[in-house]
Amino acid sequence: MFILDKLYGLFSNDLGIDLGTANTLVHVRGRGIVLSEPSVVAIQDGTNKVLAVGQEAKKMLGRTPNDIKAIRPLRDGVIADFEVVERMIRYFIEKVHNRRTFVRPRVVIGVPGSITEVEKRAVRESVEQAGAREIYLIEESLAASIGANLPIQEPSGNMIVDVGGGTTEIAVISLGGIVTSNSIRVGGDEFDEALINYLRKKYHLVIGESIAEEIKIRIGNVYPNKNERKLKMEVKGRDAITGLPKTVMLDAAEIRKAYQEPLNMIIEAIKSTLDITPPELAADICERGIVLSGGGSLLRGFDILLSKITNVPVILAENPLICVALGTGRFLDEIKFINQKIYKMEFR
Ligand code: ADP
Ligand code: MG
Repeated sequence: MFILDKLYGLFSNDLGIDLGTANTLVHVRGRGIVLSEPSVVAIQDGTNKVLAVGQEAKKMLGRTPNDIKAIRPLRDGVIADFEVVERMIRYFIEKVHNRRTFVRPRVVIGVPGSITEVEKRAVRESVEQAGAREIYLIEESLAASIGANLPIQEPSGNMIVDVGGGTTEIAVISLGGIVTSNSIRVGGDEFDEALINYLRKKYHLVIGESIAEEIKIRIGNVYPNKNERKLKMEVKGRDAITGLPKTVMLDAAEIRKAYQEPLNMIIEAIKSTLDITPPELAADICERGIVLSGGGSLLRGFDILLSKITNVPVILAENPLICVALGTGRFLDEIKFINQKIYKMEFR
């Protein structure tokens, strides 16, 4: 059995998977990141047939006829529908393996820190069903810090904040292990939701989630900037009262107002994590700074605001959207070299 396992290891393309609430990324050993697609599945009502997965399914969000549902099965960091998650994972694994499924890969998969035991089991089973030989679950914050090249094996404090679509993962890591952490179910999506609610309340303007996300990426911001005159956008939607098309001009200051609530929740979670961090590690963080990853951290001015509020330098990771995936991949590469006592992780 051992020899067989070794042989498998030689031929299989081991996978690192970032199963994000918004995007799923797959890293293949020796090839790097080979897949990055939205975590969305389109399903036919009634028959439950999967019609599309990933990019193709995302285009259908909010635009489906009655008998098709485009869903994000991980949306709030909780697995809403195990079966759909399993089919999504299987689809992505088969896609990167070019259907050479006879070689069973080892898989490292990043999961939110707040995931329950039941959800962990479900993820593990889904990956197993999808053909994995060995499965390791690693906390997303740990994976993100490895992917962002933080010197986490040293005996000093490193703080990572990963703002995803549905969750924000906050962790202080030292000697390869998580010392203090917090995981909240607020991420980039909540900014979109907050904007939708704001526009509906203030202008009776109804817009969909995709538009709200587009506005956030184009002009979204949380800290005043001297060039912000350019951050303006005409937003088209439907008037909630008359039902007719309507246009509203949005500017930087107004968007900031709309984002207040989710922004405060994230900032508070970071502050309270700093509060419970042992003083020696907190001193290291004051010196080295807080590192940001995840798509939500790209929101304009978030790094500056966080730094002003905490009085700690804040550094945006080089490639925030792929840190977790890179980290899962690197983790796999190093499994055989890593002292398991140093890296906290879970084996089956
Ligand atoms: P997850 O790990 O949960 O899948 P990601 O790290 O992929 O999430 O980040 C997705 C979130 O980042 C979404 O809410 C998306 O709208 C947001 N996002 C992506 N790019 C930007 C950007 N340039 N500015 C602001 N938000 C962004
Ligand atoms: Mg993520």
